Amino acid sequence: EAKRRGRGRVELFDARLRESIVQSAEVEIALRQAVRNDELELHLQPVLDIERNTFSSAEALVRWNRPGHGMVPPGDFIPIAERSSLIFEIGRWVILESCKTLKRWADEDPSRTQKIAVNIAGSHLIDGNLAADLDAALLLTGADPTRLEFELTETQLMHDVERARDVLERVRSRGVTVAIDDFGTGYSSMAYLRQLPIDTLKIDRSFVSNVTEDGFDSTVIDALLTIGHALGLSVVAEGIECAEQLAYLASKGCDRAQGYHLARPAPIADAEALMWPHGQHDPLEQLLNI
Ligand code: C2E
Ligand code: MG
Ligand code: MG
Ligand code: MG
Repeated sequence: EAKRRGRGRVELFDARLRESIVQSAEVEIALRQAVRNDELELHLQPVLDIERNTFSSAEALVRWNRPGHGMVPPGDFIPIAERSSLIFEIGRWVILESCKTLKRWADEDPSRTQKIAVNIAGSHLIDGNLAADLDAALLLTGADPTRLEFELTETQLMHDVERARDVLERVRSRGVTVAIDDFGTGYSSMAYLRQLPIDTLKIDRSFVSNVTEDGFDSTVIDALLTIGHALGLSVVAEGIECAEQLAYLASKGCDRAQGYHLARPAPIADAEALMWPHGQHDPLEQLLNI
Protein backbone atom coordinates (compact mmCIF):
# COMPACT_ATOMS: atom_id res chain seq x y z
CA GLU A 1 0.00 0.00 0.00
CA ALA A 2 2.75 2.44 1.06
CA LYS A 3 4.80 1.38 -1.92
CA ARG A 4 1.92 1.99 -4.30
CA ARG A 5 1.28 5.41 -2.83
CA GLY A 6 4.98 6.19 -3.07
CA ARG A 7 5.00 5.31 -6.75
CA GLY A 8 1.87 7.39 -7.24
CA ARG A 9 3.65 10.35 -5.76
CA VAL A 10 6.63 9.85 -8.02
CA GLU A 11 4.36 9.67 -11.04
CA LEU A 12 2.56 12.81 -9.90
CA PHE A 13 5.91 14.55 -9.44
CA ASP A 14 7.01 13.40 -12.91
CA ALA A 15 3.82 14.71 -14.42
CA ARG A 16 4.20 18.08 -12.72
CA LEU A 17 7.85 18.31 -13.69
CA ARG A 18 7.01 17.42 -17.27
CA GLU A 19 4.23 20.00 -17.27
CA SER A 20 6.49 22.75 -15.98
CA ILE A 21 9.20 21.88 -18.51
CA VAL A 22 6.68 21.91 -21.35
CA GLN A 23 5.30 25.17 -19.99
CA SER A 24 8.63 26.97 -19.87
CA ALA A 25 9.50 25.63 -23.34
CA GLU A 26 6.22 27.11 -24.53
CA VAL A 27 7.03 30.39 -22.82
CA GLU A 28 10.43 30.40 -24.48
CA ILE A 29 8.93 29.93 -27.95
CA ALA A 30 6.28 32.59 -27.32
CA LEU A 31 8.92 34.95 -25.92
CA ARG A 32 11.05 34.57 -29.02
CA GLN A 33 8.07 35.82 -31.05
CA ALA A 34 7.33 38.53 -28.50
CA VAL A 35 10.52 40.41 -29.21
CA ARG A 36 9.74 40.45 -32.94
CA ASN A 37 6.01 41.13 -32.53
CA ASP A 38 6.60 44.18 -30.39
CA GLU A 39 4.94 42.65 -27.31
CA LEU A 40 7.53 43.94 -24.87
CA GLU A 41 6.67 47.15 -23.07
CA LEU A 42 8.90 49.45 -21.09
CA HIS A 43 7.55 50.85 -17.84
CA LEU A 44 9.33 53.55 -15.87
CA GLN A 45 9.46 54.06 -12.10
CA PRO A 46 10.54 57.62 -11.20
CA VAL A 47 13.22 58.00 -8.51
CA LEU A 48 13.28 61.02 -6.18
CA ASP A 49 16.45 63.02 -5.58
CA ILE A 50 15.85 63.83 -1.90
CA GLU A 51 18.13 66.86 -1.61
CA ARG A 52 17.04 68.50 -4.86
CA ASN A 53 13.44 67.50 -4.24
CA THR A 54 12.86 66.42 -7.85
CA PHE A 55 12.44 63.17 -9.74
CA SER A 56 15.95 62.93 -11.15
CA SER A 57 15.81 59.52 -12.78
CA ALA A 58 13.59 56.57 -13.58
CA GLU A 59 14.22 52.83 -13.59
CA ALA A 60 13.26 50.98 -16.78
CA LEU A 61 11.27 47.83 -15.93
CA VAL A 62 10.29 45.55 -18.79
CA ARG A 63 6.87 43.91 -19.08
CA TRP A 64 5.56 41.39 -21.58
CA ASN A 65 2.12 42.15 -22.93
CA ARG A 66 1.46 38.53 -23.87
CA PRO A 67 -1.67 37.95 -25.96
CA GLY A 68 -4.19 35.97 -23.92
CA HIS A 69 -2.13 36.29 -20.73
CA GLY A 70 -2.20 40.00 -19.90
CA MET A 71 0.83 41.86 -18.59
CA VAL A 72 3.53 39.37 -17.57
CA PRO A 73 6.03 40.65 -14.93
CA PRO A 74 9.77 40.28 -15.60
CA GLY A 75 10.20 37.73 -12.79
CA ASP A 76 8.10 35.32 -14.88
CA PHE A 77 10.08 35.53 -18.12
CA ILE A 78 13.56 37.04 -17.55
CA PRO A 79 14.82 33.84 -15.83
CA ILE A 80 13.58 31.81 -18.83
CA ALA A 81 15.19 34.25 -21.28
CA GLU A 82 18.45 33.97 -19.30
CA ARG A 83 18.76 30.32 -20.28
CA SER A 84 19.46 31.23 -23.90
CA SER A 85 20.60 34.06 -26.14
CA LEU A 86 17.08 35.48 -25.84
CA ILE A 87 18.29 37.53 -22.89
CA PHE A 88 20.70 39.37 -25.21
CA GLU A 89 17.83 40.27 -27.54
CA ILE A 90 15.69 41.51 -24.67
CA GLY A 91 18.63 43.43 -23.20
CA ARG A 92 19.34 45.09 -26.55
CA TRP A 93 15.67 46.00 -26.89
CA VAL A 94 15.50 47.57 -23.41
CA ILE A 95 18.71 49.55 -23.96
CA LEU A 96 17.48 50.79 -27.35
CA GLU A 97 14.03 51.80 -26.04
CA SER A 98 15.64 53.61 -23.12
CA CYS A 99 17.98 55.48 -25.46
CA LYS A 100 15.09 56.42 -27.79
CA THR A 101 13.19 57.79 -24.79
CA LEU A 102 16.20 59.78 -23.55
CA LYS A 103 16.72 61.26 -27.01
CA ARG A 104 13.05 62.22 -27.28
CA TRP A 105 13.17 63.93 -23.86
CA ALA A 106 16.27 65.92 -24.88
CA ASP A 107 14.65 66.93 -28.18
CA GLU A 108 11.35 67.94 -26.61
CA ASP A 109 12.88 70.00 -23.81
CA PRO A 110 16.65 70.38 -23.19
CA SER A 111 15.96 71.32 -19.53
CA ARG A 112 14.91 67.72 -18.89
CA THR A 113 17.96 66.10 -17.32
CA GLN A 114 16.42 62.90 -15.99
CA LYS A 115 18.41 59.70 -16.34
CA ILE A 116 17.14 56.20 -17.13
CA ALA A 117 18.47 53.21 -15.19
CA VAL A 118 18.48 49.89 -17.08
CA ASN A 119 18.70 46.45 -15.45
CA ILE A 120 21.38 44.33 -17.11
CA ALA A 121 21.42 40.53 -16.95
CA GLY A 122 24.63 39.02 -15.62
CA SER A 123 25.07 36.87 -18.73
CA HIS A 124 24.75 39.96 -20.95
CA LEU A 125 27.61 41.55 -19.02
CA ILE A 126 29.83 38.46 -18.90
CA ASP A 127 29.02 36.41 -22.04
CA GLY A 128 27.29 38.94 -24.29
CA ASN A 129 28.35 42.01 -26.21
CA LEU A 130 27.04 44.61 -23.79
CA ALA A 131 29.50 47.35 -24.76
CA ALA A 132 28.87 46.84 -28.49
CA ASP A 133 25.09 46.78 -27.92
CA LEU A 134 25.38 50.03 -25.99
CA ASP A 135 27.44 51.67 -28.74
CA ALA A 136 24.93 50.57 -31.38
CA ALA A 137 22.00 52.03 -29.42
CA LEU A 138 23.84 55.31 -28.83
CA LEU A 139 24.75 55.57 -32.50
CA LEU A 140 21.23 54.73 -33.69
CA THR A 141 19.46 57.16 -31.36
CA GLY A 142 21.96 59.92 -30.61
CA ALA A 143 21.09 59.65 -26.90
CA ASP A 144 23.42 61.21 -24.33
CA PRO A 145 25.23 58.28 -22.62
CA THR A 146 25.66 60.29 -19.39
CA ARG A 147 21.89 60.01 -18.94
CA LEU A 148 22.09 56.24 -18.84
CA GLU A 149 22.77 54.06 -15.79
CA PHE A 150 23.28 50.27 -15.81
CA GLU A 151 22.10 48.26 -12.78
CA LEU A 152 23.76 44.98 -11.81
CA THR A 153 23.56 42.86 -8.68
CA GLU A 154 26.57 41.93 -6.55
CA THR A 155 26.18 38.26 -7.42
CA GLN A 156 26.25 39.04 -11.15
CA LEU A 157 29.44 41.06 -10.71
CA MET A 158 31.22 38.55 -8.47
CA HIS A 159 30.71 35.73 -10.95
CA ASP A 160 33.68 36.90 -13.01
CA VAL A 161 35.13 40.02 -11.45
CA GLU A 162 37.89 40.49 -14.04
CA ARG A 163 35.52 40.35 -16.98
CA ALA A 164 32.92 42.47 -15.17
CA ARG A 165 35.52 45.16 -14.53
CA ASP A 166 36.68 45.16 -18.17
CA VAL A 167 33.19 45.54 -19.59
CA LEU A 168 32.09 48.09 -16.98
CA GLU A 169 35.18 50.17 -17.68
CA ARG A 170 34.34 50.21 -21.39
CA VAL A 171 30.73 51.12 -20.66
CA ARG A 172 31.80 53.82 -18.22
CA SER A 173 34.28 55.31 -20.69
CA ARG A 174 31.22 56.22 -22.78
CA GLY A 175 29.77 58.14 -19.82
CA VAL A 176 27.27 55.55 -18.60
CA THR A 177 27.14 55.23 -14.80
CA VAL A 178 26.92 51.92 -12.93
CA ALA A 179 24.72 50.95 -9.97
CA ILE A 180 24.78 47.91 -7.68
CA ASP A 181 21.19 46.69 -7.39
CA ASP A 182 19.59 44.93 -4.39
CA PHE A 183 22.68 45.72 -2.31
CA GLY A 184 23.03 43.68 0.85
CA THR A 185 21.18 40.59 -0.36
CA GLY A 186 23.74 39.06 -2.69
CA TYR A 187 27.09 37.49 -2.36
CA SER A 188 29.91 39.99 -2.58
CA SER A 189 33.31 40.81 -1.24
CA MET A 190 34.20 44.32 -0.10
CA ALA A 191 37.70 43.87 -1.48
CA TYR A 192 36.36 43.20 -4.99
CA LEU A 193 33.64 45.79 -4.73
CA ARG A 194 36.25 48.49 -4.14
CA GLN A 195 37.98 47.52 -7.38
CA LEU A 196 34.88 47.80 -9.54
CA PRO A 197 33.95 51.04 -11.29
CA ILE A 198 30.68 51.83 -9.51
CA ASP A 199 28.75 55.08 -9.02
CA THR A 200 25.58 54.12 -7.19
CA LEU A 201 24.52 51.72 -4.47
CA LYS A 202 20.87 50.66 -4.26
CA ILE A 203 19.84 49.40 -0.82
CA ASP A 204 17.54 46.40 -1.25
CA ARG A 205 13.95 46.91 -0.26
CA SER A 206 14.03 44.04 2.25
CA PHE A 207 16.04 46.34 4.57
CA VAL A 208 13.72 49.27 4.02
CA SER A 209 10.48 47.45 4.77
CA ASN A 210 10.94 47.27 8.58
CA VAL A 211 12.99 50.38 8.98
CA THR A 212 10.81 52.33 11.38
CA GLU A 213 9.73 49.43 13.60
CA ASP A 214 12.75 47.17 13.63
CA GLY A 215 15.88 48.37 15.41
CA PHE A 216 18.07 45.85 13.59
CA ASP A 217 17.06 46.92 10.11
CA SER A 218 17.63 50.59 10.84
CA THR A 219 21.10 49.61 12.05
CA VAL A 220 21.74 47.79 8.76
CA ILE A 221 20.38 50.75 6.78
CA ASP A 222 22.68 53.12 8.69
CA ALA A 223 25.65 50.82 7.99
CA LEU A 224 24.85 50.52 4.28
CA LEU A 225 24.55 54.31 3.98
CA THR A 226 27.90 54.70 5.74
CA ILE A 227 29.59 52.15 3.45
CA GLY A 228 28.12 53.71 0.32
CA HIS A 229 29.10 57.24 1.25
CA ALA A 230 32.56 56.15 2.47
CA LEU A 231 33.13 54.65 -0.99
CA GLY A 232 32.00 57.93 -2.55
CA LEU A 233 28.82 56.43 -4.00
CA SER A 234 25.36 57.89 -4.38
CA VAL A 235 22.92 55.81 -2.31
CA VAL A 236 19.38 54.94 -3.41
CA ALA A 237 16.85 53.29 -1.09
CA GLU A 238 14.48 50.88 -2.88
CA GLY A 239 10.99 49.84 -1.86
CA ILE A 240 9.80 52.96 0.01
CA GLU A 241 6.17 52.19 0.77
CA CYS A 242 5.26 54.85 3.34
CA ALA A 243 6.04 58.39 4.51
CA GLU A 244 7.82 57.12 7.68
CA GLN A 245 10.37 55.18 5.64
CA LEU A 246 11.04 58.18 3.41
CA ALA A 247 11.39 60.48 6.43
CA TYR A 248 13.87 58.10 8.10
CA LEU A 249 16.04 57.75 5.00
CA ALA A 250 15.95 61.49 4.32
CA SER A 251 17.03 62.16 7.93
CA LYS A 252 20.00 59.80 7.46
CA GLY A 253 21.28 61.55 4.35
CA CYS A 254 20.17 58.98 1.77
CA ASP A 255 20.58 60.56 -1.67
CA ARG A 256 17.65 59.12 -3.60
CA ALA A 257 14.46 57.17 -2.93
CA GLN A 258 12.34 54.78 -4.98
CA GLY A 259 9.16 52.91 -4.15
CA TYR A 260 5.41 52.58 -4.46
CA HIS A 261 4.89 55.46 -2.00
CA LEU A 262 6.68 57.83 -4.39
CA ALA A 263 5.70 56.39 -7.74
CA ARG A 264 4.69 53.01 -9.09
CA PRO A 265 6.23 51.66 -12.29
CA ALA A 266 3.99 52.97 -15.08
CA PRO A 267 3.82 53.33 -18.87
CA ILE A 268 6.31 55.95 -20.05
CA ALA A 269 3.71 58.70 -20.64
CA ASP A 270 2.33 58.31 -17.09
CA ALA A 271 5.81 58.42 -15.56
CA GLU A 272 6.54 61.56 -17.58
CA ALA A 273 3.45 63.29 -16.21
CA LEU A 274 4.79 62.70 -12.71
CA MET A 275 8.34 63.81 -13.48
CA TRP A 276 7.29 67.01 -15.23
CA PRO A 277 4.14 68.20 -13.52
CA HIS A 278 2.47 71.42 -14.55
CA GLY A 279 2.62 74.35 -12.15
CA GLN A 280 3.77 74.40 -8.52
CA HIS A 281 5.14 71.12 -7.28
CA ASP A 282 6.81 70.08 -4.04
CA PRO A 283 7.11 66.30 -4.12
CA LEU A 284 8.81 65.92 -0.71
CA GLU A 285 6.28 67.97 1.22
CA GLN A 286 3.50 65.98 -0.40
CA LEU A 287 5.21 62.62 0.17
CA LEU A 288 6.16 63.27 3.80
CA ASN A 289 2.57 64.17 4.61
CA ILE A 290 1.43 61.18 6.64
P1 C2E B 1 14.79 45.35 -9.48
O1 C2E B 1 15.73 45.84 -10.51
O2 C2E B 1 15.26 45.30 -8.09
O3 C2E B 1 13.51 46.29 -9.64
C1 C2E B 1 12.70 46.72 -8.59
C2 C2E B 1 11.46 45.86 -8.47
O4 C2E B 1 10.79 46.23 -7.27
C3 C2E B 1 10.45 46.08 -9.60
O5 C2E B 1 9.73 44.86 -9.80
C4 C2E B 1 9.53 47.13 -8.99
O6 C2E B 1 8.24 47.14 -9.57
C5 C2E B 1 9.48 46.67 -7.57
N1 C2E B 1 9.17 47.77 -6.64
C6 C2E B 1 9.41 49.08 -6.77
N2 C2E B 1 9.01 49.78 -5.70
C7 C2E B 1 8.48 48.87 -4.85
C8 C2E B 1 7.86 48.97 -3.54
O7 C2E B 1 7.72 50.03 -2.95
N3 C2E B 1 7.45 47.80 -2.97
C9 C2E B 1 7.57 46.59 -3.59
N4 C2E B 1 7.11 45.51 -2.97
N5 C2E B 1 8.15 46.47 -4.82
C10 C2E B 1 8.59 47.59 -5.44
P2 C2E B 1 9.53 44.26 -11.26
O8 C2E B 1 9.21 45.35 -12.24
O9 C2E B 1 8.57 43.13 -11.14
O10 C2E B 1 10.96 43.71 -11.62
C11 C2E B 1 11.52 42.64 -10.90
C12 C2E B 1 12.95 42.40 -11.30
O11 C2E B 1 13.03 41.97 -12.67
C13 C2E B 1 13.84 43.64 -11.22
O12 C2E B 1 14.23 43.87 -9.89
C14 C2E B 1 14.98 43.23 -12.13
O13 C2E B 1 15.88 42.41 -11.44
C15 C2E B 1 14.26 42.42 -13.19
N6 C2E B 1 14.04 43.24 -14.39
C16 C2E B 1 13.08 44.16 -14.62
N7 C2E B 1 13.23 44.72 -15.84
C17 C2E B 1 14.32 44.13 -16.39
C18 C2E B 1 15.02 44.29 -17.65
O14 C2E B 1 14.67 45.10 -18.50
N8 C2E B 1 16.12 43.49 -17.85
C19 C2E B 1 16.53 42.59 -16.91
N9 C2E B 1 17.64 41.84 -17.20
N10 C2E B 1 15.92 42.43 -15.73
C20 C2E B 1 14.83 43.19 -15.47
MG1 MG C 1 16.93 47.38 -10.70
MG1 MG D 1 16.49 46.36 -6.99
MG1 MG E 1 15.24 43.05 -7.14
